[in-house]
Parts: sequence; C-alpha cells; structure tokens
Amino acid sequence: MLRLYRKERGSGRQATIAMLTSEVMKTYGPHLVVLEDAGDGNFVFLYAGNRVPDHDGEPITGKNTSIIAPQTAELYRIGCQEAHELNDAVCINHITAPHCVVHHWESLFLPMEDSAHRRMFVALCMPRENKDDFLRNLMDNTPEAIVAASPVRDSHGEVVDATVLYANKVSAELSGHASVDKIIGTSMMRMFGDVATAGGWDRNLSVLRTGKAAHFEFHHRSQVETRWLRVASVPTRDGLLASFHDITDQKRAQLELEHQKKMLMDEMEQRRGLEQELWALAHLDPLTSLPNRRAFRDSAMVKLAESQTAHRPLAVISLDIDHFKHINDAYGHGAGDTVLRRVADVLKAPLRPNTDMAARVGGEEFAVVLPDTDIDSAIAFAEKLRRRIEQTVVVVGEHEIRPTISLGVAMNRKSTNLDELMDRSDRALYTAKRTGRNKVCTEVDVQPKAGDNSIVAA
Ligand code: GH3
Ligand code: MG
Ligand code: MG
Repeated sequence: MLRLYRKERGSGRQATIAMLTSEVMKTYGPHLVVLEDAGDGNFVFLYAGNRVPDHDGEPITGKNTSIIAPQTAELYRIGCQEAHELNDAVCINHITAPHCVVHHWESLFLPMEDSAHRRMFVALCMPRENKDDFLRNLMDNTPEAIVAASPVRDSHGEVVDATVLYANKVSAELSGHASVDKIIGTSMMRMFGDVATAGGWDRNLSVLRTGKAAHFEFHHRSQVETRWLRVASVPTRDGLLASFHDITDQKRAQLELEHQKKMLMDEMEQRRGLEQELWALAHLDPLTSLPNRRAFRDSAMVKLAESQTAHRPLAVISLDIDHFKHINDAYGHGAGDTVLRRVADVLKAPLRPNTDMAARVGGEEFAVVLPDTDIDSAIAFAEKLRRRIEQTVVVVGEHEIRPTISLGVAMNRKSTNLDELMDRSDRALYTAKRTGRNKVCTEVDVQPKAGDNSIVAA
C-alpha cells in the first residue's frame, strides 16, 4: 500500500483515492477504511472493510466516528490528524480495550483527496494476531512437556487410551522421540512407554473418565535412568491437557537432605543412648538398678535442703542385711547377689514416685530418704520394710533363703547436714544390730529390751 502511495505521490501531487483500484480492494479491502473530515473533530466512514476495528461488528459505512467505541474513534482521529499535519503516511500502533478479541492494531494512515479535491484519509488497519505465535513460543520454550489428547473409546464407550493432538518439543525429548511429528496422532499411553506403565497413565486415564483434574508426582525408573516427574493433568472439552515437569534434581536434593537428616537423627539417638548409658554407669548400681551412693547423696542433699527451707520433716532410714556373710558362705556369692536383688525390689515397691528414694549405698547396705514424713510414719514405713523382707523367701536351687534386715531411722533437725543425719541413722542401725537384728531402731533415747523384735531407740 505504502509503495503504491509513494508512487502516486512521486509527481509531488496529492494522492487520490482513485489508486484504490479493484486490485487493491481485492487484497486490502477488508482492512481498509476511507474517512472524510466531518469538520467537527470527527470523521465520517465513506468505506469500511469488514475486518477493521469497528463498532461491535455493525456495518459502519456512512456513520460518524463519534458513535463508535471511544477508543477506536480515538485511533481514527489521531491517525487522520497526524497524517494531515505531516501531509504524509503515518503508521500507528494501537491497543484497544483488552476485552476485544483482537486488541493490538497496526494502522497506516494515508492523507488523500478525491477527484473533486475533497480531503480524505485512507487507513489500512491490520490486526496483530500474535496470539498463535505467543502460544507456540510458550509451548516450545517452556521446560515442561505439554501434551493435549482426545479420548479413544472401546466398543462399550469406555475410555481406553488417548490420541495425541498436540505435543511440544520437550514432550518429544522426554518420551524419547526424535521429533514432535512422531508423536502427534499416536497413542498417548504408548507415547510415554515405561512412564505410562509406572502409574502416570492410570491417573491421566481417570482424568479422561471423570473429567476431574489431577496433580501428582511419580517416580520413573528405566534401565537407563531414573527420574521424577510432576504432572498436572486437566480435562478439556473432550480430552485432556497434561504437563510433565521434570523434578529429578529437586527430588534428588530433597532425598539427599532427608538422608542427611536421618543420619543426623540416628547419630543423635545413638549419642542419647550413650549418654544414658554413661549416666546409668555413674548413677546406678548395676546389680540392683537402684541409685548408687553418689546419686543418693546428690539427691538426698537437695531433698534435705528443700525440707529445711519449707520446715517440713524428712526421714532417713539406713538398713543392712543380717548375717549376709553367712548367706554368701552357705549358698555361694551368686545366691548372695540374688538376695541383694530381691531385697532391692522389696525396697522399691512402696516408694512414692518422684518423692522417696532408695539406694544401695554399700555391699549389703541400703538407705531410704522419705521427704515430708514424720517420725511415726517413718517408723511405720521401716517396720513395713522389715516385715516384707522377713516374709520374703529366696529360692536358690533346692535352698530356701529367708533374709532379714536391721533398720535405723533418723529425722532431720534444724541445722542437720546429710553426713550428720546419716551418721545418726547408722547409729540407730548399729543399735538394731547390737540388740538382736531384724528390727527397727530410732535415735530416741529408749532402753532396748533384749530379744524384742519391736522398735527400740539408739
Ligand atoms: P551383719 O548382720 O552384722 O550385718 O553381718 P554381715 O555378715 O551381714 O556383715 P559383714 O559386713 O560381715 O558381711 C557383709 C558381706 O557382704 C561381706 C561381703 O563379702 C558381702 N558382699 C558385699 N558386696 C557383695 C555383693 O555385691 N555380692 C555378694 N554376694 N556379697 C557381697
Ligand atoms: Mg550385714
Ligand atoms: Mg554391712
């Protein structure tokens, strides 16, 4: 058009619309507009092809630009004015409201006149139909494999496969095909071969059957490689559009991270186990699993300090197995160990959890600390222990061993320290030994009665 216009104006004269020959109209007619200045800033359509930016598709020949969509009227007004002022061809790029199907126009405005020298303008308005280009570029440059397919049904109408209608370059690469042409028109199920059988196909099939979108990941192992794909499969009017995104690197990094995390957790678990073992070695007696002397001292000191701060009573009981040497001598060291374990079990049973504490503080010597316990309750508790041990029968082979224990009870005083308190309970225990064994003694100054298995004072 421009070449024709230039040729027409070669002589320096204004071009006339006579150049719009039938040949020109045949080629450009649908995109051409001929406008005449209406004199009031608007223009009248002398001619308008059926593919120009118009007023809702209505014929507009003979109409004024003032009645068409304002944005389009603006295009004509600016184009004509600029062409008039320049007195030459003007090219305008124009974007109308995005709700129009085509909203990007490239228009050529040519100032002309008719045979009667009336001023008019010819506009060649070409829509920039770049949507297809845009989609094609998007499809071919996205890192995702994209496949559009329509269902293939068996004689019962059941969807059994899909025919590939569209596939982008990446989908050809992903499915191991040399080019897109090799895929289009073929079976989608077979297109992905192993990938399809690895679970991905079933999900796509259900999209075709149910019309519901599916988003899923699956792990595909072939003889050559192993990879993970993230798939978004959405139903279309009669078919599906599936995109396959290779997330192998991301997945590998994630798995590696999980592996590292597990190793760290295992190591931490192992360390916790070792710490517990070390703690037990330092605090527990391996034979009876009771706290050892050190643990007893640490804990009893805290409990004693608390009871003194709170002005609450606290009792300590020292106890020792009677004639234990004889048990060892008569039945063997192993039998002695068994007796020690049984005595420890009897001691543990009546303790209040998180309050009382029993410990093995020596060979066959034990100690119990009873916070918030007055002298009467402490004596009753000691007596209960004595009775329970007395009733205990330890069977070793064909022998029945009936151990007994002697116990000494002492109470905290205002400024008692643990050594002094245990010294008193030991002395009460010694009194119990001295006055016949298998008995409970306290530090209260009462004369012992020989041969009496009841409570006596140190
Ligand atoms: P008493 O009634 O005066 O307490 O007499 P006893 O025989 O119980 O006391 P003595 O102190 O004479 O003996 C304690 C014995 O306990 C000596 C020791 O060999 C034994 N013994 C210490 N620790 C263990 C142990 O772990 N296992 C065994 N089987 N015996 C032990
Ligand atoms: Mg003893
Ligand atoms: Mg002893």
